[in-house]
Amino acid sequence: MNILAIGAHPDDIEHNCGGTLAKYAKLGHKVFTATATNGNIGSATLPMEEIAAIRKEEARRAAALIGAEYICLDYDDEMFFEDKAARYAFIDLVRYCKADVILTHSPEDYNPDHELTSKIISDIPVMIPIEKIKTKNPAYDKIPVIVYFEPAHGLGFIPTEYVDITDTIETKIAMLSEHKSQALWMQDNYKGTYDDGDFFEEARAISRYRGIQCGVKYAEGFRMANDAFRVVPYRVLP
Ligand SMILES: [Zn+2]
Repeated sequence: MNILAIGAHPDDIEHNCGGTLAKYAKLGHKVFTATATNGNIGSATLPMEEIAAIRKEEARRAAALIGAEYICLDYDDEMFFEDKAARYAFIDLVRYCKADVILTHSPEDYNPDHELTSKIISDIPVMIPIEKIKTKNPAYDKIPVIVYFEPAHGLGFIPTEYVDITDTIETKIAMLSEHKSQALWMQDNYKGTYDDGDFFEEARAISRYRGIQCGVKYAEGFRMANDAFRVVPYRVLP
């Protein structure tokens, strides 16, 4: 299968489904990662263009660890709004990846970029095969399955599916480790607060918690979005 994971910001994907993507890649599936924005406000000191370039390179390196390709739609961080161009950009991205499965944010999350990414992705599966909707990459004959990953801190999220990531948790942490600018940013901003600015603690803690829920060491939790489109029930998660 072709798998597309799209988050709003560089590092969202690695936090929420990095272990699952590593597992897909290990099983021989083709994996793409993408972000709607370029994360250009993710530094207190660097100019916007500079931090955007750094974060895109970090996301590219994280993807490369599992042989995945990273694509950035280059919207401004926290200034991403829905319009016709955004819908076309998302359709074109999905067509470029010829995605069978798309992993993205939950519809309800703390951040407007997260929620809008989820909304646009949730809106477009039926448009993917329609040739009258013209994009740079051609339509393909498939309605991708949408899977939602955890919102921030797992708040209010009851998974319906779990993926055992016990054998890929360290790859997930390694992918996160590529986001050096954000690990520093967290330390600068959250030292002395609930997680002491530890960029990796939440990823480990939530993966462990989801593991406890499903009886393995580490897991990631998901919910299926568009079950109605699945004519034959099948499991698309690894
Ligand atoms: Zn984010």
